[in-house]
Amino acid sequence: MLLSGRRDLIVAGVLAALALAVAVPAARYMTHLQFSQLAERGQNTLGLAVSALRGELARYRALPALIAQYDTIHALVQDPGDPALVAGVNAQLKEINALLGSSDIYVLLPDGLTVAASNHDGPASFVGESFAYRPYFYDAAEGREGRFFALGTTSLKRGYYFGAPVWVGDRILGVVVFKVDVDQIERTWHGADFRILVTDRDGIIFMSDRPEWRYAAIDRLTPERLERSAATRRYADTELRELPVTRAQGPTGHLMLTVEEGGARTEYLAVTENMAEADWTVKVLMQTRPARFQALVAITALLLLLGVAVLGWHSLQQRRRRMEERLAVQRDAQEMLERRVSERTADLAEVNRRLNEEVVERRATERQLRRTQSDLVQAGKLAALGQMSAALSHEFNQPLGAVRAYAENAEILLERGRIDDARGNIADISLLADRMAELGRHLRNFARKPNARLQTVTVAEVLRDTRPIVAARLREARVELRTDLGPDPIHVRVGTVRLQQVLVNILTNAADAVESLPDPRIALTARQDGARVFIIIRDNGPGVPQAIAARIFDPFFTTKGVGRGLGLGLSISYNIIKDFDGELRVAEAEGGGAEFVIELPAADGDPGDGPGDGGAEGRQGGRA
Ligand code: ADP
Repeated sequence: MLLSGRRDLIVAGVLAALALAVAVPAARYMTHLQFSQLAERGQNTLGLAVSALRGELARYRALPALIAQYDTIHALVQDPGDPALVAGVNAQLKEINALLGSSDIYVLLPDGLTVAASNHDGPASFVGESFAYRPYFYDAAEGREGRFFALGTTSLKRGYYFGAPVWVGDRILGVVVFKVDVDQIERTWHGADFRILVTDRDGIIFMSDRPEWRYAAIDRLTPERLERSAATRRYADTELRELPVTRAQGPTGHLMLTVEEGGARTEYLAVTENMAEADWTVKVLMQTRPARFQALVAITALLLLLGVAVLGWHSLQQRRRRMEERLAVQRDAQEMLERRVSERTADLAEVNRRLNEEVVERRATERQLRRTQSDLVQAGKLAALGQMSAALSHEFNQPLGAVRAYAENAEILLERGRIDDARGNIADISLLADRMAELGRHLRNFARKPNARLQTVTVAEVLRDTRPIVAARLREARVELRTDLGPDPIHVRVGTVRLQQVLVNILTNAADAVESLPDPRIALTARQDGARVFIIIRDNGPGVPQAIAARIFDPFFTTKGVGRGLGLGLSISYNIIKDFDGELRVAEAEGGGAEFVIELPAADGDPGDGPGDGGAEGRQGGRA
């Protein structure tokens, strides 16, 4: 704030100095220019005034000499005492005077006495007056051209006098004088801002458009000058004075006069022309006030213009500064943005790098997992193989042991001749061989043909063919199979024998589960829901605990004792249903027990073209 205040002060100072530096020479120049123009105008006015004066004087200059040649004049100067001659000339002069518009015409005798005059009958008649002291007289009396300007001593009127000698033979017997009124000329001079003066050689004003200035001197009234005027009585008895004027040199080198009048000072620029033939000097005084005012106006305008320019420059400067500030702010913002973007980009790159690392790690882990998985599968396979080997050896060893025992027994019985008993044993051996053959057939199922062709059958047809297979087992378990297949035939596209095998497996498992119950129940329902068919087998046995539900479809998983279950039934069933594009799953039945759901794609009623898998697979059923 303080700084900017001081800066403003400095700026203001510099501007003021600048204004001064411009204003002073500009003022000088403008004044000079105005004064030059003023002087030029003065010079014009002067030229006109001088021309007018010259013209006026020239008009009358030759006239006195002309009149001097008149016979009447000659007669008069030779006999001035003759009243008739005087009266005649008087009348003649009056007539000529009226005709020419001059002030007065009169005739003087060589002693300076007026003998006849145009104003002989007026109140201020010149007749009888002596003008011997006037230069127009004595110049003419000596044969020269007489010229003089003066205030009339008798008439008290200013005039310009021309004198001409009256030659009679080779003698000058008189002088004819012609007085021209200067008031008339003076009256044409009127200007608001200039003065025209006619001064004598002593600087005394004889003519002026300002009556108060008449007979005042613009030069010092020295005694010699006063004496010179008195000698010729140029100004009659008028008291001369000095005009209160100070002189100076103007900017254009012209004479400057400052006149004090009534307490006011008026400055004039003076231009002068000397009219030697009239013995006077014509001056034109131009008032300088308008010129000075013009110069002032011009300078003021210039300064104003300068001020406006400075203001404009200042506002431009300010605008530029504001713009720069705004740009700087924008630049900062952009830089910040760029910085942030690059930071973010770096962050992102870092995140990306970490992600990449993680992906690599994940891949490695995945590979590891796969390896572990395949290891596990391998191990599982081995374990399953071990399990199977144990089960198989158990399954086979038992009947084999029994076969051996029966055979040894039969041998002893035969040795003892007990043929019937031996036959019984051999029949038992045969039974055991059957059982082992059945076991072998089951294992063969693993080598099933999933691509065997399918056919469209109804669920009812499949169930009809399944019933006889499970009938014995159901009877044994004292349970009745209740079925509900809905009102309409439900078509599925399956291998008929394989679907029978699945139903046999599930129904046999259900029979196992409910065997020991007081009211064993197994129900089979089938229904179609859009493009899917659901066959649901429920029992009211103990159900499948959650813990093992996920594992019951694994091969060799069984909860039944050795010799009772192989754990292959559901595993085989699961894969068969998968081959039909279906799904086999277990759930908990409402009110306890197990619920197995076979979901199959529905088929339209078309019986299909393949022979199915009946021939290929043969009838299988019963328990493993
Ligand atoms: P297995 O009958 O030889 O045991 P399965 O694969 O057919 O082999 O069955 C596997 C296991 O699933 C059975 O041991 C039994 O624990 C369980 N299971 C199958 N059906 C039922 C059922 N209806 N109720 C309870 N448990 C069942």
